[in-house]
Amino acid sequence: MRIAGRNHLYVPGPTNTPDRILRAMVVAQEDHRSPRFPELTLSVLADLKKVFKTTEGTIVTFPASGTGMWEAALTNTLSPGDKVLCSRFGQFSHLWADMAQRLGFEVQVIDTDWGTGVPYDKYEEVLRADKEHKIKAVLACQNETATGVTSDIGKVRKAMDNAGHPALLMVDTVSSLVSIDFRMEEWGVDCAVSGSQKGFMLPAGMGILGMSSKAIKAMEGATSRRCYFDIGDMLRNNATGYFPYTPSIPMLYGMREALDTIFEEGLENIFARHEYLANGVRAAIHEGWKLNLCAKAPEWYSNTVSAILVPEGFDAAKVISNAYARYNLSLGAGLSKVAGKVFRIGHVGDLNLLSLMSAIAGAEMSMLDNGINVTPGSGVAAASTWWRTHTQQVK
Ligand SMILES: *Cc1c(COP(=O)(O)O)cnc(C)c1O
Repeated sequence: MRIAGRNHLYVPGPTNTPDRILRAMVVAQEDHRSPRFPELTLSVLADLKKVFKTTEGTIVTFPASGTGMWEAALTNTLSPGDKVLCSRFGQFSHLWADMAQRLGFEVQVIDTDWGTGVPYDKYEEVLRADKEHKIKAVLACQNETATGVTSDIGKVRKAMDNAGHPALLMVDTVSSLVSIDFRMEEWGVDCAVSGSQKGFMLPAGMGILGMSSKAIKAMEGATSRRCYFDIGDMLRNNATGYFPYTPSIPMLYGMREALDTIFEEGLENIFARHEYLANGVRAAIHEGWKLNLCAKAPEWYSNTVSAILVPEGFDAAKVISNAYARYNLSLGAGLSKVAGKVFRIGHVGDLNLLSLMSAIAGAEMSMLDNGINVTPGSGVAAASTWWRTHTQQVK
């Protein structure tokens, strides 16, 4: 039977695409080697620099998802056997570490509790001890989407500077860029990995990678095998507004419209909105439902996704499947170690207070259907109270 009405999409990516962006993507195909094509390419690449907050860096895009940009960052700047330092505290930080291993790098992984983030002090300690500078890259996941944990990339930079260590700093910003502040240049980030389907509000399919001039320089000596994701090929073509192979034309038009949408609201206002929305959701979880986040302390709370622990003895996967079947609500699953223990509400992208109310109401109804003892209406009431007694800062 047809399910009427729109699906309520609250997974932390892909996120809801505004109608104006959907419309902008409905275009006839065109010659990507035409004389007028570079205008589109060059404007998109120039404006992406503003989003990454870099003036000296270079942005490249590939027809890929975020995972592809993990690989591009590693293989374009490192050589087989190079040492990489990373930390693991959720499924995404795990997968990037795993990829680095599979690509043939020597990976030192610091495991920390799921629910916490980058261990800044441990990083400093390890980097200080690496007197010969064998570590060539330091990896950090700004927003661990599996657990709803945000790390402070400024503190990672500080740990590296305190240790006087010259390694490249590579940051995963896939679920944070355009929703949580990211400052590529100020924080000295060398490779900033991102994708189109979260903060950018687009479908998946465009991998976006910011490269500092230091990272571009590192490409010269990097002997890892690379072909499709070779940034050298990309840059030679991008210089005149073209690509080494066929780009996705609807994605480029979609990105153009997404950037216009982003600048109309203002990046800083978007960050403030995400914080404001997230605070209401956290009020629903803590004050309303009396439940806990997977994130262990406020310093780790993510403004783009909340991973909610269900009480002992209940299966979070059933809350999610019932929400989908009965209320046409898509909640984020618990991944790997936290499967069955958490469900996630994504609060990233094109959302406002009342759209999020549907996620809170639906999650609450589904928990009640599953016998979880939350007070009916308590989540909505707590979020409503928080939002009505606070205002979003407008810049
Ligand atoms: C979504 C996500 C990715 C990449 O996933 P893709 O499906 O390849 O786009 C990587 N890191 C984080 C933190 C993510 O949230």
